Amino acid sequence: MQFISTNQQAPAVTFREALLQGQAPDGGLYWPLSIPSLSESQISAWSALSYASIVAELLLPYMSDVITKERLQAICHEAYNFDIPLEHVNQRQHLMRLDQGPTASFKDFAARAMARLMSHFLKEDQRELVILTATSGDTGSAIAQAFAGVPGMKVVILFPRDEVTRRQRKQMTTLRGNITAIALEGKFDDCQAMVKQAFSDPRLSGIPLSSANSINIGRLLPQMGYYAYAYSRVAQYPEPISFVIPCGNFGNMMGACLLRAMGLPMERIVIAVNSNDEVPTFLGSGTYEKIVPSRNCLSNAMNVGHPSNLTRLVQLYGGQMDHTGTISTMPNLEQMRRDFFSVSISDQETRDTIVQVYKEYNVLLEPHGAVGWAGLQKYLKSQPDMAASLLVAIETAHPAKFPEAIQELLGFDPEVPPSLQHIEAKPETFDTFPHDYEHFAQWLLDKF
Ligand SMILES: *Cc1c(COP(=O)(O)O)cnc(C)c1O
Repeated sequence: MQFISTNQQAPAVTFREALLQGQAPDGGLYWPLSIPSLSESQISAWSALSYASIVAELLLPYMSDVITKERLQAICHEAYNFDIPLEHVNQRQHLMRLDQGPTASFKDFAARAMARLMSHFLKEDQRELVILTATSGDTGSAIAQAFAGVPGMKVVILFPRDEVTRRQRKQMTTLRGNITAIALEGKFDDCQAMVKQAFSDPRLSGIPLSSANSINIGRLLPQMGYYAYAYSRVAQYPEPISFVIPCGNFGNMMGACLLRAMGLPMERIVIAVNSNDEVPTFLGSGTYEKIVPSRNCLSNAMNVGHPSNLTRLVQLYGGQMDHTGTISTMPNLEQMRRDFFSVSISDQETRDTIVQVYKEYNVLLEPHGAVGWAGLQKYLKSQPDMAASLLVAIETAHPAKFPEAIQELLGFDPEVPPSLQHIEAKPETFDTFPHDYEHFAQWLLDKF
Protein backbone atom coordinates (compact mmCIF):
# COMPACT_ATOMS: atom_id res chain seq x y z
CA MET A 1 0.00 0.00 0.00
CA GLN A 2 1.30 3.40 -1.01
CA PHE A 3 0.54 6.69 0.73
CA ILE A 4 0.54 9.92 -1.26
CA SER A 5 0.64 13.55 -0.15
CA THR A 6 -2.48 15.74 -0.48
CA ASN A 7 -0.17 18.40 -1.98
CA GLN A 8 0.89 15.89 -4.68
CA GLN A 9 4.51 17.11 -4.71
CA ALA A 10 6.13 14.34 -2.64
CA PRO A 11 7.03 10.74 -3.51
CA ALA A 12 4.63 7.95 -2.46
CA VAL A 13 5.76 6.05 0.65
CA THR A 14 4.81 2.97 2.66
CA PHE A 15 2.80 3.17 5.88
CA ARG A 16 5.98 2.86 7.89
CA GLU A 17 7.53 5.97 6.36
CA ALA A 18 4.28 7.93 6.48
CA LEU A 19 3.93 7.10 10.18
CA LEU A 20 7.50 7.97 11.14
CA GLN A 21 7.59 11.19 9.05
CA GLY A 22 4.23 12.55 10.20
CA GLN A 23 3.88 15.26 7.57
CA ALA A 24 4.88 14.78 3.91
CA PRO A 25 7.98 16.77 2.83
CA ASP A 26 5.83 18.99 0.55
CA GLY A 27 3.77 20.14 3.55
CA GLY A 28 0.79 17.92 2.60
CA LEU A 29 -0.85 15.10 4.54
CA TYR A 30 -0.51 11.43 3.69
CA TRP A 31 -3.52 9.58 2.32
CA PRO A 32 -3.78 6.00 0.92
CA LEU A 33 -3.38 5.83 -2.87
CA SER A 34 -6.16 3.21 -3.11
CA ILE A 35 -8.81 2.22 -0.61
CA PRO A 36 -9.23 -1.50 0.11
CA SER A 37 -12.76 -3.00 0.10
CA LEU A 38 -14.48 -5.00 2.78
CA SER A 39 -16.47 -8.08 1.79
CA GLU A 40 -19.93 -8.95 3.02
CA SER A 41 -18.66 -12.08 4.79
CA GLN A 42 -15.94 -10.06 6.50
CA ILE A 43 -18.36 -7.48 7.90
CA SER A 44 -20.86 -10.17 8.94
CA ALA A 45 -18.15 -12.06 10.87
CA TRP A 46 -17.25 -9.05 13.07
CA SER A 47 -20.12 -9.69 15.47
CA ALA A 48 -18.14 -12.64 16.87
CA LEU A 49 -14.79 -10.79 17.06
CA SER A 50 -13.25 -8.72 19.84
CA TYR A 51 -12.62 -5.01 19.39
CA ALA A 52 -8.87 -5.56 18.98
CA SER A 53 -9.39 -8.23 16.30
CA ILE A 54 -11.72 -5.99 14.29
CA VAL A 55 -9.20 -3.10 14.32
CA ALA A 56 -6.32 -5.38 13.35
CA GLU A 57 -8.34 -6.67 10.38
CA LEU A 58 -9.16 -3.12 9.25
CA LEU A 59 -5.56 -1.93 9.54
CA LEU A 60 -3.88 -4.90 7.88
CA PRO A 61 -4.42 -3.99 4.18
CA TYR A 62 -2.87 -0.55 4.84
CA MET A 63 0.34 -1.99 6.27
CA SER A 64 0.63 -5.66 5.28
CA ASP A 65 3.80 -4.85 3.29
CA VAL A 66 5.62 -3.58 6.39
CA ILE A 67 4.29 -5.58 9.39
CA THR A 68 3.09 -9.16 9.91
CA LYS A 69 -0.53 -9.95 10.72
CA GLU A 70 0.53 -11.60 14.00
CA ARG A 71 2.52 -8.57 15.19
CA LEU A 72 -0.30 -6.19 14.26
CA GLN A 73 -2.81 -8.31 16.15
CA ALA A 74 -0.56 -8.38 19.21
CA ILE A 75 -0.20 -4.58 19.08
CA CYS A 76 -3.97 -4.08 18.86
CA HIS A 77 -4.67 -6.44 21.76
CA GLU A 78 -2.13 -4.63 23.91
CA ALA A 79 -3.47 -1.18 22.95
CA TYR A 80 -7.17 -1.91 23.44
CA ASN A 81 -7.50 -3.33 26.92
CA PHE A 82 -10.49 -1.23 27.99
CA ASP A 83 -14.28 -1.21 27.48
CA ILE A 84 -16.30 0.53 24.78
CA PRO A 85 -19.79 0.98 26.24
CA LEU A 86 -22.68 1.26 23.75
CA GLU A 87 -25.72 2.64 25.56
CA HIS A 88 -29.18 2.35 24.13
CA VAL A 89 -30.93 5.71 24.53
CA ASN A 90 -34.16 5.89 22.51
CA GLN A 91 -35.78 4.03 19.58
CA ARG A 92 -32.74 2.78 17.61
CA GLN A 93 -30.51 5.58 18.86
CA HIS A 94 -27.36 4.68 20.78
CA LEU A 95 -24.51 6.48 22.49
CA MET A 96 -21.01 5.05 22.13
CA ARG A 97 -18.70 6.14 24.95
CA LEU A 98 -15.06 6.35 23.89
CA ASP A 99 -13.91 7.47 27.34
CA GLN A 100 -12.65 4.36 29.11
CA GLY A 101 -8.98 4.68 28.10
CA PRO A 102 -6.22 6.02 30.38
CA THR A 103 -6.96 9.72 29.74
CA ALA A 104 -10.73 9.32 29.39
CA SER A 105 -10.95 10.78 25.88
CA PHE A 106 -11.30 9.12 22.46
CA LYS A 107 -7.77 10.28 21.63
CA ASP A 108 -6.49 7.26 23.59
CA PHE A 109 -7.68 4.98 20.75
CA ALA A 110 -5.36 6.55 18.21
CA ALA A 111 -2.47 7.39 20.54
CA ARG A 112 -2.12 3.90 22.00
CA ALA A 113 -1.98 2.13 18.62
CA MET A 114 0.30 4.77 17.17
CA ALA A 115 2.83 4.61 20.02
CA ARG A 116 3.16 0.85 19.64
CA LEU A 117 3.39 0.92 15.84
CA MET A 118 6.10 3.61 15.95
CA SER A 119 8.04 1.69 18.56
CA HIS A 120 7.80 -1.49 16.47
CA PHE A 121 9.27 0.15 13.35
CA LEU A 122 11.96 2.02 15.28
CA LYS A 123 13.11 -1.18 16.95
CA GLU A 124 13.54 -2.78 13.51
CA ASP A 125 15.76 0.12 12.46
CA GLN A 126 17.41 0.53 15.88
CA ARG A 127 16.45 4.17 15.70
CA GLU A 128 15.08 6.68 18.18
CA LEU A 129 12.53 9.40 17.61
CA VAL A 130 11.74 12.63 19.46
CA ILE A 131 8.04 13.39 19.32
CA LEU A 132 7.27 17.10 19.60
CA THR A 133 3.68 17.99 20.38
CA ALA A 134 1.78 21.17 21.15
CA THR A 135 -1.45 20.65 23.03
CA SER A 136 -4.46 22.49 24.35
CA GLY A 137 -4.90 19.61 26.83
CA ASP A 138 -6.39 16.37 25.54
CA THR A 139 -3.90 15.44 22.81
CA GLY A 140 -0.90 16.00 25.07
CA SER A 141 -2.24 13.89 27.88
CA ALA A 142 -3.26 11.03 25.55
CA ILE A 143 0.15 11.11 23.84
CA ALA A 144 2.02 11.30 27.16
CA GLN A 145 0.13 8.33 28.63
CA ALA A 146 0.39 6.29 25.41
CA PHE A 147 4.14 6.84 24.90
CA ALA A 148 5.25 6.62 28.55
CA GLY A 149 7.92 3.93 28.86
CA VAL A 150 7.69 2.99 25.14
CA PRO A 151 11.21 2.05 23.95
CA GLY A 152 12.81 4.20 21.26
CA MET A 153 10.57 7.19 21.90
CA LYS A 154 11.22 10.48 23.66
CA VAL A 155 8.33 12.90 23.95
CA VAL A 156 8.31 16.68 24.47
CA ILE A 157 4.93 18.31 25.12
CA LEU A 158 4.34 22.05 25.09
CA PHE A 159 1.18 23.20 26.81
CA PRO A 160 -0.15 26.72 27.53
CA ARG A 161 0.55 27.28 31.24
CA ASP A 162 -2.74 28.96 32.08
CA GLU A 163 -5.11 27.21 29.66
CA VAL A 164 -5.16 23.55 30.69
CA THR A 165 -7.13 22.11 33.58
CA ARG A 166 -5.30 20.77 36.63
CA ARG A 167 -6.35 17.24 35.71
CA GLN A 168 -5.09 17.57 32.14
CA ARG A 169 -1.78 18.95 33.40
CA LYS A 170 -1.30 16.12 35.89
CA GLN A 171 -1.70 13.57 33.10
CA MET A 172 1.26 15.12 31.31
CA THR A 173 3.52 16.05 34.23
CA THR A 174 3.47 12.97 36.47
CA LEU A 175 5.12 10.47 34.12
CA ARG A 176 8.83 11.52 33.91
CA GLY A 177 11.10 8.98 32.19
CA ASN A 178 10.83 9.55 28.43
CA ILE A 179 8.12 12.23 28.76
CA THR A 180 9.03 15.91 29.23
CA ALA A 181 6.24 18.44 29.74
CA ILE A 182 6.83 22.16 29.31
CA ALA A 183 4.46 24.89 30.47
CA LEU A 184 4.71 27.80 28.07
CA GLU A 185 3.93 31.34 29.18
CA GLY A 186 1.63 31.79 26.22
CA LYS A 187 -1.46 30.49 24.45
CA PHE A 188 -2.07 27.23 22.59
CA ASP A 189 -1.42 28.99 19.28
CA ASP A 190 2.02 30.05 20.61
CA CYS A 191 2.85 26.44 21.54
CA GLN A 192 1.83 25.29 18.08
CA ALA A 193 3.85 28.04 16.36
CA MET A 194 7.00 27.08 18.34
CA VAL A 195 6.61 23.41 17.44
CA LYS A 196 6.13 24.29 13.76
CA GLN A 197 9.20 26.50 13.81
CA ALA A 198 11.27 23.71 15.39
CA PHE A 199 10.29 21.32 12.59
CA SER A 200 11.62 23.71 9.96
CA ASP A 201 14.69 24.95 11.90
CA PRO A 202 17.87 23.73 10.07
CA ARG A 203 19.89 23.96 13.32
CA LEU A 204 17.74 21.13 14.71
CA SER A 205 18.10 18.86 11.66
CA GLY A 206 20.36 16.53 13.66
CA ILE A 207 17.49 15.69 16.04
CA PRO A 208 15.12 12.96 14.72
CA LEU A 209 11.93 14.97 15.27
CA SER A 210 8.45 13.70 14.43
CA SER A 211 4.90 14.66 15.26
CA ALA A 212 1.97 12.84 16.81
CA ASN A 213 -0.91 15.20 16.11
CA SER A 214 -3.75 14.34 13.80
CA ILE A 215 -1.82 15.24 10.67
CA ASN A 216 -0.18 11.83 11.16
CA ILE A 217 -1.96 9.08 9.19
CA GLY A 218 -1.01 6.70 12.00
CA ARG A 219 -3.40 8.51 14.28
CA LEU A 220 -6.19 8.51 11.77
CA LEU A 221 -6.37 4.87 10.63
CA PRO A 222 -7.05 3.34 14.08
CA GLN A 223 -10.05 5.68 14.35
CA MET A 224 -11.95 3.47 11.90
CA GLY A 225 -12.12 0.79 14.57
CA TYR A 226 -14.92 1.95 16.83
CA TYR A 227 -17.29 2.69 13.94
CA ALA A 228 -16.84 -0.87 12.66
CA TYR A 229 -17.25 -2.18 16.20
CA ALA A 230 -20.51 -0.24 16.72
CA TYR A 231 -21.86 -1.58 13.43
CA SER A 232 -20.98 -5.15 14.41
CA ARG A 233 -22.83 -4.79 17.72
CA VAL A 234 -26.05 -3.01 16.70
CA ALA A 235 -26.59 -3.51 12.94
CA GLN A 236 -27.60 -6.40 10.70
CA TYR A 237 -25.63 -6.37 7.44
CA PRO A 238 -26.48 -4.82 4.93
CA GLU A 239 -28.65 -2.30 6.77
CA PRO A 240 -27.18 1.22 6.77
CA ILE A 241 -26.17 3.07 9.92
CA SER A 242 -25.69 6.78 10.62
CA PHE A 243 -23.01 8.18 12.93
CA VAL A 244 -23.15 11.48 14.77
CA ILE A 245 -19.67 12.88 15.37
CA PRO A 246 -18.63 15.97 17.38
CA CYS A 247 -15.83 17.45 15.25
CA GLY A 248 -12.90 19.83 15.75
CA ASN A 249 -9.92 18.93 13.62
CA PHE A 250 -11.97 16.24 11.78
CA GLY A 251 -9.52 13.39 12.45
CA ASN A 252 -12.20 11.37 14.20
CA MET A 253 -14.63 11.87 11.33
CA MET A 254 -12.09 10.91 8.67
CA GLY A 255 -11.95 7.46 10.29
CA ALA A 256 -15.68 7.08 9.59
CA CYS A 257 -15.28 8.41 6.02
CA LEU A 258 -12.54 5.93 5.27
CA LEU A 259 -14.62 3.06 6.62
CA ARG A 260 -17.55 4.12 4.45
CA ALA A 261 -15.22 4.26 1.43
CA MET A 262 -14.12 0.69 2.27
CA GLY A 263 -17.75 -0.41 2.01
CA LEU A 264 -19.43 -0.18 5.42
CA PRO A 265 -23.09 0.68 4.69
CA MET A 266 -23.64 4.22 5.97
CA GLU A 267 -26.66 6.43 5.53
CA ARG A 268 -25.34 9.78 6.77
CA ILE A 269 -22.45 11.05 8.79
CA VAL A 270 -23.78 13.85 10.97
CA ILE A 271 -21.03 16.43 11.52
CA ALA A 272 -21.68 18.43 14.69
CA VAL A 273 -19.44 21.42 15.41
CA ASN A 274 -19.59 24.24 17.97
CA SER A 275 -19.62 27.90 16.88
CA ASN A 276 -16.53 27.22 14.78
CA ASP A 277 -18.82 26.59 11.83
CA GLU A 278 -16.45 26.88 8.84
CA VAL A 279 -17.24 23.35 7.60
CA PRO A 280 -21.07 23.53 7.68
CA THR A 281 -20.75 26.93 5.96
CA PHE A 282 -18.49 25.43 3.29
CA LEU A 283 -20.82 22.47 2.64
CA GLY A 284 -23.74 24.87 2.38
CA SER A 285 -22.28 27.67 0.27
CA GLY A 286 -19.24 26.07 -1.40
CA THR A 287 -17.06 28.89 -0.07
CA TYR A 288 -14.41 28.03 2.48
CA GLU A 289 -13.23 30.62 4.98
CA LYS A 290 -11.21 29.72 8.03
CA ILE A 291 -12.09 31.33 11.34
CA VAL A 292 -9.14 33.29 12.79
CA PRO A 293 -8.80 33.34 15.72
CA SER A 294 -10.97 30.35 16.50
CA ARG A 295 -14.02 30.98 18.70
CA ASN A 296 -13.86 29.98 22.36
CA CYS A 297 -16.65 27.54 23.20
CA LEU A 298 -17.56 25.27 26.09
CA SER A 299 -16.52 22.22 24.03
CA ASN A 300 -12.96 23.53 24.04
CA ALA A 301 -11.27 20.57 22.30
CA MET A 302 -13.29 21.49 19.20
CA ASN A 303 -12.26 25.16 19.05
CA VAL A 304 -10.69 24.78 15.63
CA GLY A 305 -11.11 27.47 12.97
CA HIS A 306 -9.21 25.65 10.21
CA PRO A 307 -9.26 21.85 10.58
CA SER A 308 -6.10 20.31 9.19
CA ASN A 309 -7.93 17.15 8.06
CA LEU A 310 -10.15 19.11 5.70
CA THR A 311 -7.59 18.68 2.92
CA ARG A 312 -8.05 14.91 3.28
CA LEU A 313 -11.84 15.22 3.11
CA VAL A 314 -11.61 17.40 0.00
CA GLN A 315 -9.22 14.87 -1.58
CA LEU A 316 -11.60 11.97 -0.82
CA TYR A 317 -14.33 13.81 -2.76
CA GLY A 318 -12.13 14.45 -5.79
CA GLY A 319 -10.93 17.98 -4.99
CA GLN A 320 -7.71 19.61 -3.90
CA MET A 321 -7.04 22.02 -1.03
CA ASP A 322 -3.62 23.08 0.23
CA HIS A 323 -2.72 23.43 3.91
CA THR A 324 -3.58 27.14 3.91
CA GLY A 325 -7.17 26.27 2.95
CA THR A 326 -6.95 27.41 -0.68
CA ILE A 327 -8.99 25.16 -2.98
CA SER A 328 -7.57 24.62 -6.48
CA THR A 329 -10.08 21.89 -7.48
CA MET A 330 -13.56 21.81 -6.00
CA PRO A 331 -14.63 18.50 -4.47
CA ASN A 332 -17.97 16.93 -5.44
CA LEU A 333 -20.18 19.07 -3.22
CA GLU A 334 -23.40 17.40 -4.34
CA GLN A 335 -22.12 14.03 -3.20
CA MET A 336 -20.86 15.51 0.06
CA ARG A 337 -24.29 16.98 0.76
CA ARG A 338 -25.83 13.54 0.28
CA ASP A 339 -23.27 11.84 2.53
CA PHE A 340 -23.12 14.41 5.35
CA PHE A 341 -25.48 16.46 7.44
CA SER A 342 -23.48 19.23 9.08
CA VAL A 343 -24.65 21.55 11.80
CA SER A 344 -23.27 24.15 14.23
CA ILE A 345 -24.40 24.06 17.87
CA SER A 346 -24.20 27.08 20.20
CA ASP A 347 -22.97 26.92 23.81
CA GLN A 348 -26.53 27.56 24.99
CA GLU A 349 -27.82 24.60 22.96
CA THR A 350 -24.94 22.52 24.35
CA ARG A 351 -25.93 23.36 27.93
CA ASP A 352 -29.64 22.76 27.25
CA THR A 353 -28.83 19.36 25.76
CA ILE A 354 -26.82 18.24 28.81
CA VAL A 355 -29.79 19.07 31.04
CA GLN A 356 -32.48 17.67 28.73
CA VAL A 357 -30.76 14.34 27.98
CA TYR A 358 -30.03 13.78 31.66
CA LYS A 359 -33.62 14.51 32.66
CA GLU A 360 -35.25 12.57 29.85
CA TYR A 361 -33.00 9.50 29.57
CA ASN A 362 -30.78 9.61 32.67
CA VAL A 363 -27.79 9.78 30.30
CA LEU A 364 -24.88 12.00 31.37
CA LEU A 365 -23.12 13.91 28.58
CA GLU A 366 -20.15 16.30 28.71
CA PRO A 367 -20.00 19.34 26.39
CA HIS A 368 -18.45 17.62 23.32
CA GLY A 369 -20.87 14.70 23.37
CA ALA A 370 -23.70 17.17 23.94
CA VAL A 371 -22.77 19.03 20.74
CA GLY A 372 -23.12 15.66 18.99
CA TRP A 373 -26.46 14.83 20.59
CA ALA A 374 -27.84 18.28 19.77
CA GLY A 375 -26.66 17.70 16.17
CA LEU A 376 -28.61 14.44 16.11
CA GLN A 377 -31.77 16.26 17.21
CA LYS A 378 -31.33 18.83 14.44
CA TYR A 379 -30.79 16.07 11.90
CA LEU A 380 -34.03 14.34 12.92
CA LYS A 381 -35.88 17.63 12.78
CA SER A 382 -34.81 18.16 9.18
CA GLN A 383 -35.29 14.46 8.23
CA PRO A 384 -38.21 13.22 10.34
CA ASP A 385 -38.37 9.96 8.37
CA MET A 386 -35.00 9.03 9.91
CA ALA A 387 -36.35 8.99 13.48
CA ALA A 388 -36.66 5.21 13.61
CA SER A 389 -33.40 4.51 11.74
CA LEU A 390 -30.22 3.11 13.24
CA LEU A 391 -28.10 5.91 14.75
CA VAL A 392 -24.97 5.94 16.89
CA ALA A 393 -23.79 9.21 18.47
CA ILE A 394 -20.22 9.46 19.76
CA GLU A 395 -19.31 10.67 23.26
CA THR A 396 -15.65 11.72 22.96
CA ALA A 397 -14.75 12.35 26.61
CA HIS A 398 -15.73 11.37 30.14
CA PRO A 399 -18.02 13.83 31.99
CA ALA A 400 -15.54 13.85 34.91
CA LYS A 401 -13.14 15.80 32.67
CA PHE A 402 -15.62 18.70 32.78
CA PRO A 403 -16.80 18.80 36.41
CA GLU A 404 -17.43 22.58 36.37
CA ALA A 405 -19.97 22.38 33.55
CA ILE A 406 -21.78 19.39 35.06
CA GLN A 407 -21.85 20.94 38.54
CA GLU A 408 -23.24 24.21 37.19
CA LEU A 409 -25.95 22.55 35.05
CA LEU A 410 -26.96 19.48 37.03
CA GLY A 411 -25.81 20.30 40.56
CA PHE A 412 -23.53 17.32 41.20
CA ASP A 413 -19.97 16.22 40.59
CA PRO A 414 -19.61 13.39 38.05
CA GLU A 415 -17.95 10.28 39.40
CA VAL A 416 -14.24 10.22 38.59
CA PRO A 417 -13.15 7.03 36.76
CA PRO A 418 -10.20 5.07 38.22
CA SER A 419 -8.00 6.12 35.28
CA LEU A 420 -8.21 9.77 36.38
CA GLN A 421 -8.20 9.08 40.14
CA HIS A 422 -4.86 7.37 40.39
CA ILE A 423 -2.83 10.31 39.11
CA GLU A 424 -4.17 12.70 41.77
CA ALA A 425 -1.57 11.70 44.36
CA LYS A 426 1.41 11.62 41.99
CA PRO A 427 3.99 14.44 42.16
CA GLU A 428 4.38 16.72 39.14
CA THR A 429 7.58 17.68 37.33
CA PHE A 430 7.62 20.31 34.61
CA ASP A 431 9.61 23.33 33.45
CA THR A 432 8.08 26.71 32.70
CA PHE A 433 9.46 28.36 29.57
CA PRO A 434 9.09 31.98 28.44
CA HIS A 435 7.34 32.63 25.13
CA ASP A 436 10.68 32.73 23.31
CA TYR A 437 11.55 30.35 20.47
CA GLU A 438 15.34 30.75 20.93
CA HIS A 439 15.11 29.54 24.51
CA PHE A 440 13.19 26.45 23.36
CA ALA A 441 15.52 25.71 20.42
CA GLN A 442 18.61 25.96 22.65
CA TRP A 443 17.01 23.63 25.19
CA LEU A 444 16.27 21.05 22.45
CA LEU A 445 19.87 21.24 21.21
CA ASP A 446 21.23 20.75 24.73
CA LYS A 447 18.90 17.89 25.56
CA PHE A 448 18.99 15.78 22.39
C1 LIG B 1 -10.04 16.19 20.12
C2 LIG B 1 -11.42 16.12 20.61
C3 LIG B 1 -12.53 16.27 19.76
C4 LIG B 1 -12.38 16.61 18.29
O1 LIG B 1 -11.87 15.54 17.55
P1 LIG B 1 -11.29 15.80 16.08
O2 LIG B 1 -10.72 14.51 15.64
O3 LIG B 1 -10.22 16.85 16.25
O4 LIG B 1 -12.41 16.27 15.25
C5 LIG B 1 -13.80 16.12 20.27
N1 LIG B 1 -13.99 15.87 21.59
C6 LIG B 1 -12.96 15.71 22.44
C7 LIG B 1 -13.25 15.45 23.88
C8 LIG B 1 -11.64 15.83 21.99
O5 LIG B 1 -10.63 15.71 22.86
